[in-house]
Amino acid sequence: MFKVKNLSVTVDGQEIIKGLTQDFAVPVGKFFVLFGPNGCGKSTLFRACMGFSKYEVSGDILLDGKKINGLKIDERVKSGLAYMYQNPPSLKGVKFEDVAKESVGDDLVWKEYSKDIDNLDARKFLKRDINVGLSGGEVKRSELLSLAMLENTKVFLFDEPDSGIDLDNLKKIGKYMGDLLKKKKAMGIIVTHSGDILKYIDAVKGAVMYRGKIACVGKPMEILNCIKEEGYSKCVNCEEVKK
Ligand code: ADP
Ligand code: MG
Repeated sequence: MFKVKNLSVTVDGQEIIKGLTQDFAVPVGKFFVLFGPNGCGKSTLFRACMGFSKYEVSGDILLDGKKINGLKIDERVKSGLAYMYQNPPSLKGVKFEDVAKESVGDDLVWKEYSKDIDNLDARKFLKRDINVGLSGGEVKRSELLSLAMLENTKVFLFDEPDSGIDLDNLKKIGKYMGDLLKKKKAMGIIVTHSGDILKYIDAVKGAVMYRGKIACVGKPMEILNCIKEEGYSKCVNCEEVKK
């Protein structure tokens, strides 16, 4: 469903991702977990796959077997790729509800999201400017609500949805993400550091990214335990989790 082949990404003249080949496919409703130390290129991988400017890409980004490298961001989204920002921008003067209503285009359709709004406890910030003055948990919930409004998404890229949030939000967000994948018949790729969110999602495969390459592929919990015990530099040489 989603793979990259011999992918290299250069940002500001620096090659961050180097000849990366990885099949990220997991069944519908399930997650592929991407681990890796700060600065190894996880967000760069996601952002390059979405087609953000500044990222020079060579190699193939394949969604359902089709190369999407040449497409603009909105075309990639329409093709079925969606991205949840690690640090989304704030938009002063732009209210969430106004943008959401405009994008769904119809009051009746907007009402269909009532349950999502309640599940994400999002009603209280709908009339506020997007991400302005929102708490960490609210920002993540606002991001998820935006993703819920996309159509035809096949692959969701979740960039550290669990960073800086409390346990209640962690549970709410994890459960919502799993339900979202099932509803949309999509799969997810998630970056997490603590791994706490793995309790609430169905993660079936994982990989460690190290210095712009995939160093190891295996079962998410085994990889996480290895990282916790040995650290990343040891984990990349750990034969136990290589399957
Ligand atoms: P990770 O998400 O794994 O923590 P990133 O992909 O954010 O790491 O960053 C990898 C490296 O690429 C870092 O050294 C970062 O400074 C650099 N980088 C990423 N995006 C940009 C950018 N837009 N401009 C300059 N450098 C960038
Ligand atoms: Mg990152």
